[in-house]
Amino acid sequence: EKMGLNEIRSKFLDFFESKGHYKKESASLVPHNDKSLLLINSGMAPLKNYFAGLEVPPSKRMTTCQKCIRTGDIENVGKTARHGTFFEMLGNFSFGDYFKRESIRWGWEFVTEHLHIPQEKIWVTVYEEDQDSYDLWVKEMNFPEERLVRLGKDDNFWEIGLGPCGPCSEIHFDRGEEYGCGSPDCKPGCDCDRYLEFWNHVFTQFDRDENGNYGQLEHKNIDTGMGLERMACIMQNVDTIFDVDTIRQILSTVESMAHVKYGENDKTDVSIRIITDHIRAVSFLVADGVLPSNEGRGYVLRRLLRRAARHGKLLGIKENFLYKLVEEVIKVSGEAYPELVEKESYIKKVIRIEEEKFNETIDQGTEILAGYIEELKNNKMNTLSGENAFKLYDTYGFPIDLTKEILEEENLDLDEESFNDEMNKQRERARNARGNMEGESWKEDPLSKLDSSISSKFEGYEALDTKSTV
Ligand code: ATP
Ligand code: MG
Ligand code: MG
Ligand code: MG
Repeated sequence: EKMGLNEIRSKFLDFFESKGHYKKESASLVPHNDKSLLLINSGMAPLKNYFAGLEVPPSKRMTTCQKCIRTGDIENVGKTARHGTFFEMLGNFSFGDYFKRESIRWGWEFVTEHLHIPQEKIWVTVYEEDQDSYDLWVKEMNFPEERLVRLGKDDNFWEIGLGPCGPCSEIHFDRGEEYGCGSPDCKPGCDCDRYLEFWNHVFTQFDRDENGNYGQLEHKNIDTGMGLERMACIMQNVDTIFDVDTIRQILSTVESMAHVKYGENDKTDVSIRIITDHIRAVSFLVADGVLPSNEGRGYVLRRLLRRAARHGKLLGIKENFLYKLVEEVIKVSGEAYPELVEKESYIKKVIRIEEEKFNETIDQGTEILAGYIEELKNNKMNTLSGENAFKLYDTYGFPIDLTKEILEEENLDLDEESFNDEMNKQRERARNARGNMEGESWKEDPLSKLDSSISSKFEGYEALDTKSTV
């Protein structure tokens, strides 16, 4: 019997609870009091203040399973075996408590004794200058040097601007030669799908100052992140994260809605995977209070939604379908994330309205863009003008990234500068039209009619954050 994704999540959290960690629920995808980040993208992101010593954590040892969104991975989705825009990150954290030794020891214990992953399939990377980690793995854990790789700063050093930072040690699973790129240099860190990186252990031991100096942190921290979907992929011995039990269930529904079989055609497979990933991201975003708009988080949501809708069209789906898929997301994730269940009808409504809105114009827009593309090709030109891209955006609701993506599929470019000029002109027009009136526009947005009581703030977590003492 293969271990299900939901079971792996519990096993991880229980394991670290047994090692004295306080189990904390996932924070909202919408960062709280953090202007540096659009959306939560790792387990440590919502815990930053604990790491920086600005707030006192409820316990010096914590474990979470955090909802994450990485829009930076959007191009990878559907193409690599291991990337989603939405995924769950399991983590164990130490705020000035234990350090490298325990992190490595417990990591190894969990992976080999609780998940029973064969040791010989595991590879480890360490930062080239971090001799401590190397020695811990090799001398204390007796990890074979042949499967230990030293990597440079790009891969194995974690820092975000100034402040706490440090080396990492990453654990990989060797899926076998048949998944490899064939290069003699193929090893962990290679971009191909052979060595699946699944667990990053970050040893936050330095404090970087304005002059680029790395001082030692007074309280050293541990921050680890394990991709739940990736671990499930390994445990279930399947090819991609889209084949793990929960995600596959959503994917199968996409398949049957589209009347397209998965695994028969590369192009339709990519579309099926993109829809499967994006509907997860979209459902969780709406549950956390994000609404489609042309800016910030709302734009991320709109872009994902419209991109998924377009791939639905490519698969030949005629009707609105995305909102129906929410049920599948809830079936597989609702138990772990009750907010999905609570807000089911709201999530569906938001998605349906946005989908309808886009559907009214997508066919026309697609046709017009196809016309532009043909014209470019006939004239042996390769750049779409900003004016035309703006028209698609303004009249047909094409997010600019979607236009760019479709152009890229045809090896064409976009004149982004002139597109931005058009955008600025429009902002100017809007400002003038509003006169002295501040704030919202007057045009009625169908979404404004929805229940506005849903906020992106979760009082529960907030209370937990501020009241807590060690
Ligand atoms: P990769 O090199 O594969 O893009 P990463 O180095 O960017 O991964 P980290 O920032 O180290 O990833 O995040 C910690 C863990 O989170 C990874 O080891 C992986 O298991 C998981 N993870 C990261 N990005 C994704 C993603 N887009 N989809 C699914 N899981 C992810
Ligand atoms: Mg990455
Ligand atoms: Mg990596
Ligand atoms: Mg990594």
